[in-house]
Amino acid sequence: MIISIASGKGGTGKTTVAVNLALSLQNVQILDCDVEEPNAHIFLKPKIIGEKKAVIPVPEIDEAKCDYCGKCREVCAYHAIAVVPANDGKKGSVLIFPHLCHGCGACSLLCPKGAIKEIDKEIGIIETGEKENMMFVHGRLNVGEAMSPPVIRQVKKHINLSKTVIIDAPPGTSCPVITAVKGSDFCVLVTEPTPFGLNDLILAVEVLRKIEIPFGVVINRADIGDGNVEDYCEKENIPILMKIPFSKEIAVSYSEGIPVVERDISYQDKFINLYLNICGIKNEADSCRKR
Ligand code: SF4
Ligand code: SF4
Repeated sequence: MIISIASGKGGTGKTTVAVNLALSLQNVQILDCDVEEPNAHIFLKPKIIGEKKAVIPVPEIDEAKCDYCGKCREVCAYHAIAVVPANDGKKGSVLIFPHLCHGCGACSLLCPKGAIKEIDKEIGIIETGEKENMMFVHGRLNVGEAMSPPVIRQVKKHINLSKTVIIDAPPGTSCPVITAVKGSDFCVLVTEPTPFGLNDLILAVEVLRKIEIPFGVVINRADIGDGNVEDYCEKENIPILMKIPFSKEIAVSYSEGIPVVERDISYQDKFINLYLNICGIKNEADSCRKR
């Protein structure tokens, strides 16, 4: 089963849930897909055993073949190519803006002169590791790079379905989150009982309903703030899978980079219960789908 842990906004405790859930279960693989700011490794301290460059294919122009027709510029949905046509006997030129390129391949496919070849551009790194019997993978997007989805996809290529796979997704509701959670059997949305938490939860719920992934909510720091998140979940029939209290012990543990389940073993049962809740809802969703 693939379980992704997401949140409409950063700072809600998403990684805390992902890491502690992973440490509470057997036979787990954890993928940190928050590639702009991966931090699961700080808590898990895995032994890194493999490293691979994350690349995207970007176009390179063979000016000897190019007639500056502009087809590549027309097909590029991301405005990553500009073509200056030849004029008054002056040679034209083709400019590539690699930071805007999504590596979709459309320009090289559609160039009528075969003047475009693709070259790999390094945009990050993928590291694999292990901690006891847990498999670990994370990606890091290079500073200054904007395209996190290709790095996330390269992290997800390591998914091992013989394990319980836990994906720590990036925060928010845009392309990187969708890339991370797509294909998951279940998504846990971590939120907090504040107006900002509720606002971003509502956006995340809309996304998950669109992409049809079953989900439930974990409320972190559940005993501060207001009751509006719970009211919303009740009204929308969204299961609340777990409530994590505001606790000095958890905060201190987090600040020291120690997962709370390693500091206080009793938390393991709480995260195992979270997993059992997820399994129950997932089975229910599957049986509804079969009918
Ligand atoms: S489509 Fe090909 S031939 Fe036309 S401008 Fe682009 S690279 Fe040159
Ligand atoms: S590979 Fe795709 S995104 Fe990149 S320049 Fe070509 S058409 Fe544009």
